[in-house]
Amino acid sequence: MDIKSLSLDELKLEVAKLGEKPYRAKQLYEWMHIKLARGYDEMTNLPKSLREKLAANYEYISLKEVTVQTSRLDGTKKFLFELSDGNLVESVWMQYHHGNAVCISSQVGCRMGCRFCASTLDGLERNLTPSEMLDQIYAISRSIGERVSNIVVMGTGEPLDNYSNLLQFIDMITDENGLNISQRNITVSTCGIVENMKRLADEKLQITLALSLHGSTQAKRQELMPIARKYDIDEVIDACRYYFDKTGRRVTFEYSLVGGVNDTDEDAENLCSLVGGLNCHVNLIPVNPIKERDFVESERKHVLNFQKKLEKRHINATIRREMGRDIDGACGQLRRRHSTATESVQEI
Ligand code: SAH
Repeated sequence: MDIKSLSLDELKLEVAKLGEKPYRAKQLYEWMHIKLARGYDEMTNLPKSLREKLAANYEYISLKEVTVQTSRLDGTKKFLFELSDGNLVESVWMQYHHGNAVCISSQVGCRMGCRFCASTLDGLERNLTPSEMLDQIYAISRSIGERVSNIVVMGTGEPLDNYSNLLQFIDMITDENGLNISQRNITVSTCGIVENMKRLADEKLQITLALSLHGSTQAKRQELMPIARKYDIDEVIDACRYYFDKTGRRVTFEYSLVGGVNDTDEDAENLCSLVGGLNCHVNLIPVNPIKERDFVESERKHVLNFQKKLEKRHINATIRREMGRDIDGACGQLRRRHSTATESVQEI
């Protein structure tokens, strides 16, 4: 059993099963989720006999840092971690004026197949456990020596395709007995799995939901995102409206601008009609080209024009600051480059 994925209440039950005093659960939880211990050995106020018992009965997840790359442009740091089964995940640390943010992965690989995304090229390997999501944040916080203020679940994987682990993760990272990060400082990005967007709305959390839209009509969206064949664009927008109605949280639409594909005046007009009635925010992302596909970035003037068109219709739109461009900033590029480099070494 993976001890770091247990909530405090679940941990209390386990501690009772071991015949230990209840206060030990709180101590143990604090070591794992506040002091960010890397193993049982560090838990010096627990008796050695208890630490041995824990080690014999519970796996302790602690990610191994494989590489860290620091951007010379903006100080963004990209971490590559190894999981206990040898799989690799990547996470990013970004510094802003108002705090810092960690972008975490939710799965090893992804099965959603978005055409411009590097994370999906080899499909889905497996879901990440709550502890593996938490430990991306813990490992980065330890390594940098700073508290993390914001979390975006926008790394590799589709978080709503790993629903129950995602929810347990959110519960634990916002727990006042742990890092106690505010729900309002958490953003979950989805390609639009409608039933789980509604389920999430019904949880009535205060997290921000970001929808990867990327196309402003059903036909355009379908070209870029295979998941759009399953859920019609109107159904996805309805689910966003539902999320706002249930939670009062403004939804973010992510729109990656691909040169000549979805960045024309007509695309901007269609986007205005699509989201016009919603309390939302549009985040324009110049696509980060990956070598496996021939998509190109929109020209700067088209990006600015697109933004202007939205603003004219009173739709709040920002252009995402591109952070860590020089260090494989786009989803899945680092993990992929590392695995292919290792494979080619083995081939020699
Ligand atoms: N699966 C989730 C979260 C991970 S992707 C989702 O689809 O939202 C996070 C965001 O990065 C998504 O909006 C995704 O479409 C976008 N993205 C992926 N690859 C990209 C690239 N090469 N350039 C620009 N944005 C990209």
